[in-house]
Amino acid sequence: MKQEEQIMQWIDGHREDIIDFLQQLIRVPSVNPWFFDEPAPSKEKDIQELIAGKLSQLGAEIEMWEPVAEELKQYEGMGGYYPGRDFIGRPNLAGTFGKGTAGKSLLLFGHIDVVKAGSKWTVDPFGAEVVDGKLFGRGAVDMKGGVAAMIMAVEAILRSGARLKGPVIVGTVVDEETGGMGALDFIHHGYRADGCILTEPTSLTIAPLCRGILWGRIKVQGRSGHIEMPQADWRDGGAVDAIKKARLLLDAFDDLNKDWAARKTHPYLSIPCQVHVAQLNAGEYPTSFANQAEIVFNAQYLPSERDDKFVGGNVKKELEDFIYNAAKVDPWLQENLPEIEWLVDADCAETDVAGPFVQTCVQSLKSVGLAGKIEGLGFHTDMAWPVNVGIPTINFGPGDPSLAHHSDEFIPVDELITAVKVIAKTIIDWCGTEEA
Ligand SMILES: [Zn+2]
Repeated sequence: MKQEEQIMQWIDGHREDIIDFLQQLIRVPSVNPWFFDEPAPSKEKDIQELIAGKLSQLGAEIEMWEPVAEELKQYEGMGGYYPGRDFIGRPNLAGTFGKGTAGKSLLLFGHIDVVKAGSKWTVDPFGAEVVDGKLFGRGAVDMKGGVAAMIMAVEAILRSGARLKGPVIVGTVVDEETGGMGALDFIHHGYRADGCILTEPTSLTIAPLCRGILWGRIKVQGRSGHIEMPQADWRDGGAVDAIKKARLLLDAFDDLNKDWAARKTHPYLSIPCQVHVAQLNAGEYPTSFANQAEIVFNAQYLPSERDDKFVGGNVKKELEDFIYNAAKVDPWLQENLPEIEWLVDADCAETDVAGPFVQTCVQSLKSVGLAGKIEGLGFHTDMAWPVNVGIPTINFGPGDPSLAHHSDEFIPVDELITAVKVIAKTIIDWCGTEEA
């Protein structure tokens, strides 16, 4: 029998072991400590130790280390850097198979932190129950399903008696859910490969790009005054309605979005970049004109728009200019320019789909009967840092990304198994395997 067939048969024959491994991962509540109501030790270390145990049983060379924020200072202003973040008890992990082999190398990459369970679960969020072919639990989709799939793909190859011709690095990092400093540190630590699969959920499509995300807050000033009384001109001390002034900017955003809808598109994205207003906060009580209005928005940007630090500086500048210009048509706003504050800049990246790595991945999907569909992700993932250092990277994993962070998050077991097969096939085709 061909070795590849043996590997695929091993996967079909070990369905229960694959499910069991994902259940073990979900049962460690590795919630990112940012979500804790009160300080407590993170369980990220427990899950990394569980994974390290599994990888070393399979013969990997293990390295586990805690990131040190101080050592990453050189990345100030770049994606994933948060000064002073604490990683005590929160290690990153790398397990290397086939070290020193001559073939092409592959990094299988994922995060092991999850968001908190939240409310309205109908099952135990850390119970990992399987009901009607669905495995439930916090992280089932985002992204312990992907982490389990990538590790079981390596196991399938090695347990089928094959040997790797090129190195496979399994990298699992902490702290994705609040910014991606774990991934930054992993790349800073020096791990490199000729290709990378980031096993974030993509419903088994290939996502060669993600978008950058900016959160901003605009403060529009007004001047309070009795809302039922006649008001003098603002130059003579009369009230100014901050809500009305904010509306000028909201209308301007509508025009901007028409422009962006035509301009900021990508062939692999179903929606254009837009400025979406997410929150409005204004006014103090019903008898006074609002003396301030706050607009909180979410704007997305394309990898092609990144600045020289690989983040959204160009788009920030574009939006600042736009907002100031829109304000200047109004005499009050011209004298009282809105203040803009940037809250978040989550980085992004893109891999050339014509390159050999993405093409190998497309073929792997086709070989297990999938269409090999390519579709970008509208949201942020950890893919930027591998790409920034020249590693062709795709997001590919089991699970529907729209179920991430939901109550009753679940992954279809069949999809998990298919993902194991696709990843195993990619390892076979990219790194090469031979009889042990
Ligand atoms: Zn994720």
